[in-house]
This record gives sequence, C-alpha cells and structure tokens, in this order.
Amino acid sequence: MDSITQFTACPMDCPDSCSLAVETVEGKISGIRASNFNPDTQGFICSKVARFAKRVYSEARILHPMKRVGEKGKGKFERISWEEAADTVCGKFKQIKETSGGEAILPFYYGGSNGLLAQETVDHAFFARLGASRLARTVCAAATTEAARSMYGKMPGAAFEDYQHAKLIIIWGANPKVSNIHLMPFLKKAKAAGAKIVVIDPVNNFSKDEIDLHLPIYPGTDLVLALAMIRFWQENNLLNHNFIREHTKGVENLLAASAAHTVAQAADITKLTPQQIEQVAQIYASHNPALLRVGWGLERNRNGGKAAAAILALPALLGKFGVRGSGYTLSNGSAYKVDARELAVIPGWQTRVINMSRLGHVLTNESNPAVQGLFVYNCNPVATMPNQTAVVKGLQRGDLFTVVSEQVMTDTARFADILLPATTFLEQEEIRNGYGSYSTQYLAPAIERCGEAKPNEEMFALLGRAMGWQDEAFCETTEDYLHRAARSLKGFDNDVSLGSLKKNRIQRLAQTPVQFENVLPWTPDKKVNLAPKNFGETAFEYEELQSSPYPLALISPAGNKLTNSTLGEFNLPELFLSMNPLDAEARQLQQGDTVRVYNKIGEVKVRLLVNHRIRQGVVVLPKGAWRKASLNGWTSNALSPDTIGAIGQGACFNDARVEVCRSESP
Ligand code: SF4
Repeated sequence: MDSITQFTACPMDCPDSCSLAVETVEGKISGIRASNFNPDTQGFICSKVARFAKRVYSEARILHPMKRVGEKGKGKFERISWEEAADTVCGKFKQIKETSGGEAILPFYYGGSNGLLAQETVDHAFFARLGASRLARTVCAAATTEAARSMYGKMPGAAFEDYQHAKLIIIWGANPKVSNIHLMPFLKKAKAAGAKIVVIDPVNNFSKDEIDLHLPIYPGTDLVLALAMIRFWQENNLLNHNFIREHTKGVENLLAASAAHTVAQAADITKLTPQQIEQVAQIYASHNPALLRVGWGLERNRNGGKAAAAILALPALLGKFGVRGSGYTLSNGSAYKVDARELAVIPGWQTRVINMSRLGHVLTNESNPAVQGLFVYNCNPVATMPNQTAVVKGLQRGDLFTVVSEQVMTDTARFADILLPATTFLEQEEIRNGYGSYSTQYLAPAIERCGEAKPNEEMFALLGRAMGWQDEAFCETTEDYLHRAARSLKGFDNDVSLGSLKKNRIQRLAQTPVQFENVLPWTPDKKVNLAPKNFGETAFEYEELQSSPYPLALISPAGNKLTNSTLGEFNLPELFLSMNPLDAEARQLQQGDTVRVYNKIGEVKVRLLVNHRIRQGVVVLPKGAWRKASLNGWTSNALSPDTIGAIGQGACFNDARVEVCRSESP
C-alpha cells in the first residue's frame, strides 16, 4: 500500500514546536517523524511524539460521549449520544447556576495542547456566559512569567540557534536533555567552538564532556545564589554601571537585598561551596557574549518568583546584552503577542478567580459558593496538581458534577460524571505559537477523527447552542476560529495571516531577537524594572521553609517519557524514586528495594534507584506519572503541598520534604 504524507506540527507543552511529517496507510498512521518546515526541528523529534499513534489507537481511547454508571472513580461508563451528553451537561449547569450561582462552576484546563484554539476561545465564551469562576493557571510558569513581565515586559529572548555564538552558557533550573532537546545541538556547537557551559541544578544530567561546571544547588535556594553573585560583583567592582544607568531602574532595592548575602552565608543555605559560588560569579562576569537559559525548575518553591526576578536581573547588572549570543531565554512565547480581544468573544467576565494549584483544597474545604460543577479539559489534574490526596478526595464528592473532555481514560477521566471524547492533534486543525522556537505553525489533520471525538472549539460551540445561546461565539466554525487566532498574533517584526500560514505551514520571525540590539524591553519606558511595585517590599527577601521532621527535599522534574502527564497511559509503566548513594546508605537501602516515601500529607510506594547524579539530601520522583505507575496508587503530587508562592501565585512542588524507608509490604 502507498503511504501518504501529511505535514503538521506538534502542539505539546514543549518549547521546541517541531514540524512533523505523518505517514498514513489507508487512513491509519504508520509513522511520525520530523519535517523540514521548521528549521529548529533539525530533522529529529522526541521519542514521545514519534510514538503518539499508540495513544490515537489505544484501548484507553475515549471514542464516544459516555455517562458514569458505576461508583465515582471506578471508570465504569455507558455510551450515550452527543445530544444526551450536551443536554445533561447544560441541564446540570443551569440548575447549579440557579441554585448556587454561576461561580459554583469551575472550568479547569492547562496545556494538554498548546494550540491557540484549544483554550481561551469558545470555552471562555461558554464559561463567561455561565458566569462561572475563572481559573488562575499557576501550575507552571506563573512565577517566572510574572517576573519576566514585570521586569522586561516579556521581551523576546535569545533564539536556540543563537546559542552557538555564546562564549558562556549558564543553564539554570532546566534540563534541555528531556524538555528542550533541540537546544542540545547548539550547546554542542557552542562547546566545540570553545564556549564554557555551566549547569545549576540539584541533579547533574550532563556528562563531564558536555559541561564545564555543575552547581548542585539545594532546591528553593536559587534566590540566595543569585543575590550572593550580585554582592560578589558589587564588592569586586564588576557591575556594569553604564548599562545599569542607561537601561534599568530600581537597582537600589536589589543591591540592598544582596548586601545581606555573603558568599559564605549563601554557601550555607544553597549547600554549595564558597568556591563554586565565586567561580560561577567570576565566569559570568568575565565571558562575552554570555547567555542565560532560565528554566522552570527554579520557580517551583516558595521563593520561586523572587528567584526568577533576581536571576533575570543578572544579565542587566553586568550588561550582558547587545550582541548575538548574549542575553537570556525564558519563554519566547511573546515574540508573537496574542491579542486576546480577537479570541475572547464575550468580554467582561469578572467573577472570582480560583488558583488551580489549590484544586484539592477548593474541592474539599468550604468556599462561597462551593464548587459544584467542574469541567476539565486539556488537563489531568489527578496526575499534575499538588496535594493529590485532596484532589482525589474532592473528585470523589457525591455532590460534585464533573465533566471531563479527554482523549484517553486518564486518572481524572475516571471520576467524570459525563465523559466527552476529544480529538488528538493528529485529527484536527490548529495554530501553534511556539514558546521556545520562534515559529507559528498551522496544524492540518493527518487522519479522520476517531469515533465521535471533537476539538474543543467545536465542543464548546455545541454546548453553547445546547444552552440556547445565540451568540456569535457559538455559531462560528473552526475555520472562523483559525482566522481569529491568526489575526490575534502580532509579531515583534511581522503579523500572521491564515492564508499564508496554510500555504507555507509556518511563519517565522524575519530576524531572531538580539536583546538591546533589535529588541528592547516591552516595558512602558523600555527599561528593565529591577524593583517592580507588584513585588512588594520583600521582593528579594529569602523565605526559609519551616523546619521539617522530614529531612529530604523531594523534587519532581520532567522526565523523558511524558510531556507533563500526556502518554502516561503507556509510556511510564513504573515510577522509581532516585536517591543519592550516601542517603541510601544512611538508610540501609539498596537499588531495587521497595521504599516508602512519606510525609504528613501522603505516602508513595515505589522501587528505588540509587543515582550519584542527584545531590545528597534530595530525592527525585518524575512529574506527571499516572497512579498505576506506583505500587500504592499515589505519585509525587501526593507529597507536594498546595502552598503558593508570593510572586505569580505559582505552585510550590519542590517545597515537599519527605523521609524514605524500606517498605515491608508493596
Ligand atoms: S514534544 Fe517537543 S520535542 Fe517532542 S515532537 Fe513535540 S515539540 Fe518536538
């Protein structure tokens, strides 16, 4: 049989935005590989998406609307029609609104797809019309985004391809080996050309040949390291006063805050050596051009937003900008700004805001009004939100009406009262605006839709009409929404049209940004604001975690099997705890032992991997695992508190403290 190739792009929550070639034989996917449309893809894709057809044709695939027929959470459902599903959802939501008000309904969504139509389009029109509670999307990137917005107006950062021009690259709180794999070839090129590479991370994911210096920082202390570097520069007259005077404001507060952090004191808190701290400060000051890759690992704690702000201040204090291969990269999503007015069809939605990282708390505690209707899409909160025990307890509530739109039977879908089948990105049209790769791409369907699955914009339009609403938002087609999405994108050097996107599949910036050369901060005065008012008086004050009886810091970074929790149905069959050999020895534990990881809010049973790449005092359970991957049905999130950080109100997963012992029973 001849195979047909369809070109599309990957909308997963990943910075790389690969362009894809999907081979089909008789309408079925036979292979997924890289295409050449996006040069950033460089001819390869990750093994996760290469195997995505396994999800499309999985036995766990949800192909039809269904209603729950068994106990909540048991995953027993019976097929119904879309008409019955829509009538049930609308009838129940109307009843909740009448009796308790619209705010008793909560939409819950995140980055299952980063397509522009997937969220905050018709869905927002639907929930705005209901007067539902609004959702603060804080589980990732909230703190870093707030810091970048307040200080630089979310100025576009250095492009991947420009890393090869750097003489120094500092990778801080990121692991490009698993979640930004297309940066790796440029790191290799830079290294081959003589660049130094420094990694700051509790885990060393690199070999000796790949990097020059690794700082195994203790989780939650990045702020202190950054402040100690600033103090070191000030003491050694290394600050770039000309740049600070010309391009920044508010430096006084930052310098005052850094005065409290000597190298010796910072070494004590960060559990680094004074020599390591001085070394990184000196290397950064003495190399040009120098690039800072700021990741999202450093924000997942109570000091996360403050740390992001102090770290983003570093290149400004040294003036490390203005030439290719300098500056910083955080999220590049703002190179094309999304004009929400084009997408948000019903303006004026002004109801209460619920922080998604507190879902378990919100569902299990009194609130006014209590959440009685929950609509989950693009998200699997049981696998991804902190305080997993409370999330599960909340979803078990008999008086909670839960709708889940999903591709496969996830840990959250099992709790649905009404389950709605969602298309995968291989069955739908979309537009993806990259947040790492500087590209906007058109996604074309590679195959027919499976079963009765619908894309989000179509599903919410159907539900809006079933409500009896005649608004324009609920009468438009996917094509209309594609036009809206294309119109909403305003590039820093060009705009987007759907016609050209469909024809060329991709639109890239005419030139990559060079910060302070062809792009200035997008703040009103085009200066870096080093003391934004919204950070408050304690902007750079380090907050210690209360002393804990549990001696080990638990972190839950991304692994190479899942994108957040996507593909957990088959790609991470067993979850392991990784631990430093000295910590294992102290507990008389050995590789392969079944262990109990516990604290006062939860307990996870898994097998142990002893790994010298993890610093002492820290243990690792990768994020996103499904409940079946552990031996007792709980994952890292059962141990993570649902506290939130001061800046950006972000989740604090890495504030989890635990103890580990051998488990006598699985
Ligand atoms: S998940 Fe990332 S690396 Fe994998 S195909 Fe998608 S964009 Fe590329």
